Amino acid sequence: LVSRDHHPDRSVVRVGGVPIGPGTATLVAGPCAVETPDQTLAAARMAQAAGATLLRGGAYKPRTSPYAFQGLGEAGLRILADVRAETGLPVVTEVVDAHDVELVASYADMLQVGTRNAQNFALLQAVGAAGRPVMLKRGMNATIEEWLMAAEYIAQRGNLDIVLCERGIRTFETATRNTLDISAVPVVQRLSHLPVIVDPSHSGGRRDLVLPLTRAAIAVGADGVIIDVHPRPEQALCDGPQALVDDDLAELAAIMTDLPPMV
Ligand code: PEP
Repeated sequence: LVSRDHHPDRSVVRVGGVPIGPGTATLVAGPCAVETPDQTLAAARMAQAAGATLLRGGAYKPRTSPYAFQGLGEAGLRILADVRAETGLPVVTEVVDAHDVELVASYADMLQVGTRNAQNFALLQAVGAAGRPVMLKRGMNATIEEWLMAAEYIAQRGNLDIVLCERGIRTFETATRNTLDISAVPVVQRLSHLPVIVDPSHSGGRRDLVLPLTRAAIAVGADGVIIDVHPRPEQALCDGPQALVDDDLAELAAIMTDLPPMV
């Protein structure tokens, strides 16, 4: 279903009316985690200043440590809905448990499945039946074949509105949090008709790498990028060191508009 063999034209997925697909270079930006109404609105305004047309923000956070901030849950989803009403930005947010899919889908414009759940087949089937577009991150240990098969679980439930997101994989390298597999973008675009975007925030895990990796993503032909921004990253409850700040937004906007996207 996700293969290009029987679907030669690359697909465009619409999220609350915003297209992601060939030629779009869509910017999704926002806080890693929803913390407070003020922080989320400020991050959404930053995202808009950089040209973002979709707002990201996690209300359910899949953290490595059980002692780390786990997200605000439904209260966070309510904040996202309020910020959408204020800014007009459709909301992309993660769901980590199949039991929460209906609830998250009632607030979200797009459901995100993160790297840690990329082969949680019950969750994939549940989001496939939820009636919302899905962003499927690549599992940090997944081959491209495994990633596409995970997408197939979603598609099999009747949902072809899937955007694939390369977010870095585990390698022997420790200088960066993950290794961004930039070659995955054109490889997957040849194998699958689904749009492919890149997450330069979670792959590098460092603010200083986000803009260079964004350039690489757009240059290689990614259909968009998803980027963390935060008004006060030093106080962030999650992934502050990788969040872009106000001073980075003009350069981000320039990268997203100066480089013509490849079709
Ligand atoms: C995220 O985008 O908030 C996130 C946790 O990403 P990943 O699943 O790629 O680590």
